[in-house]
Amino acid sequence: MICMNLNYMKVKESYLFADIRRRVEEWSKENPGKMILRLGIGDVTQPLTPSVIKALHEAVEEQAHAETFHGYMPECGDSQLRLAIAKWYQKRNIPVDESEVFVSSGASDEFGDILHLFDKSLPAMIPEPAYPAYADANVMDGREIIFPRMTEDFLPVPPEKEIQALIYLCSPDNPTGAVCTRECLEEWIAYAVKTKSVILFDAAYESFITEENIPRSVYEIKGAKECAIEISSLSKTAGFTGTRCGYTVIPTALERDGLSLNAMWVRNRTTRTNGVSYILQKGALAVFSEEGQKEVRELHEVYRANAHNFMKALEEAGLSYAGGKNSPYIWMKCPDPLGSWEVFDILLKQAEIVATPGAGFGASGEGWIRFSMFANEEDVKEAGRRIVLLRNEKYF
Ligand code: PLP
Repeated sequence: MICMNLNYMKVKESYLFADIRRRVEEWSKENPGKMILRLGIGDVTQPLTPSVIKALHEAVEEQAHAETFHGYMPECGDSQLRLAIAKWYQKRNIPVDESEVFVSSGASDEFGDILHLFDKSLPAMIPEPAYPAYADANVMDGREIIFPRMTEDFLPVPPEKEIQALIYLCSPDNPTGAVCTRECLEEWIAYAVKTKSVILFDAAYESFITEENIPRSVYEIKGAKECAIEISSLSKTAGFTGTRCGYTVIPTALERDGLSLNAMWVRNRTTRTNGVSYILQKGALAVFSEEGQKEVRELHEVYRANAHNFMKALEEAGLSYAGGKNSPYIWMKCPDPLGSWEVFDILLKQAEIVATPGAGFGASGEGWIRFSMFANEEDVKEAGRRIVLLRNEKYF
């Protein structure tokens, strides 16, 4: 009798970023003392903002006294935080009710956990290149994966064939930096409604959108509340990668097979989690205050300036790229005939720059390489200078 989940045998042995870390560590050991510029993994470098730090300190202090101490938190999230998130949507004329908001420990956790709501026979439709965790989580579950066609601008196109599926959309996208236009979302929503599919909309990078006409939430589009779940995170918005807090919106109007997905998720959360820590939720609440919002906007300016400087350097070097404008990622085309791991090696060995090879985001990412603008300002400027030199010296 088989007792283990054998689907784990089908998941690629190492996770992309673990692979990169290993290669960089090996190279560093052989070349000690080199100053490596890390533009690989999309981890933030700016600290938490003052409002968040103040709220975290206060929450820790509250936990020190019997009168203010908090034990278990509500499984679906602290009511004040759920309300603050709902109001933050409502301020932008997006009708989200607090009962539709679930506080989470981050988007990654949610993208894994949410699969529990769906039958394993439902295929996952994942635009590729994509954040690797989408496919891996589905492979672990034994789900079939379908790759929709992509436009030249890395926007996914709904298939002609009507397939009921779990549809992944990420905007701004990791790794390509592409953003879904209103038209693109309208097409997917129409497709999801017609096929009774469910869209999992990854809004982890929504705060990097600068263009007014680009939707920051899938619910800006009519019909989305009947077919889409939005999963978001404070990781990139407010520097919470190591602090861990996010939120998921499951509309009450979303039903499949006569079941309310919102009610199912309440049932799931009240069974499978005891909620996010009180301290972290207090910190997260501060992000949604007026001062907190002002501070995160300043935080984004740092990363936006990085993107601006890096795009200028790539242009000076005559290299093509996508992203950067509404996204903290710059997706550079590898100069012919080099593959993405070859460019990775040249960057590491000749310029001590770490980037993420496009091939790690799926076969169609080959020929591209991703740079993260979450690095610190001087590192990004220096990386730009070194790339211009590499080009002048004809390394690629
Ligand atoms: N979604 C995308 C597209 C990401 O790139 C990441 C992290 O890099 C996540 C989700 C995970 O975010 P979190 O830190 O909230 O787990």
